[in-house]
Amino acid sequence: MSNYDNDNIFAKIIRGEIPCDKVYSDDDIFAFKDISAAAPVHVLVIPKGQYVSFDDFVVSAGEEKVASFFTKVREIAASLGVDKTGYRLITNHGEDAHQTVPHFHVHILGGKKLGGLLQSDNLER
Ligand code: 5GP
Repeated sequence: MSNYDNDNIFAKIIRGEIPCDKVYSDDDIFAFKDISAAAPVHVLVIPKGQYVSFDDFVVSAGEEKVASFFTKVREIAASLGVDKTGYRLITNHGEDAHQTVPHFHVHILGGKKLGGLLQSDNLER
């Protein structure tokens, strides 16, 4: 992908240049705990390929990779036990969504009652 920054923090985590608390890894997918957990379970799932965001991933990766990615997200959520109690998936694309790391990632959040979808005091107008 042309705009992909090879030095973003998740690229460094995939390359093993920065440590992380690994949850899952295979040839295509990597999952690790978020460094700043917003819930008792807060895991980030990323493809190992170079995709800037959800938008880029869906456009560039092809349906087979997109489908297998989300199938694996479900399996990882189940392995964390939150399939029983409930979980939320978040993926932020771009500036308005406050995407801070330019490598596509899905947050798996759970382990407590998460409340409403958006915290109104966090919304910028
Ligand atoms: P975004 O706001 O882009 O959707 O989410 C980026 C997430 O990456 C944030 O929740 C942030 O805490 C997490 N994060 C940023 N840097 C690191 C890091 O070095 N290690 C880990 N494990 N998570 C990180």
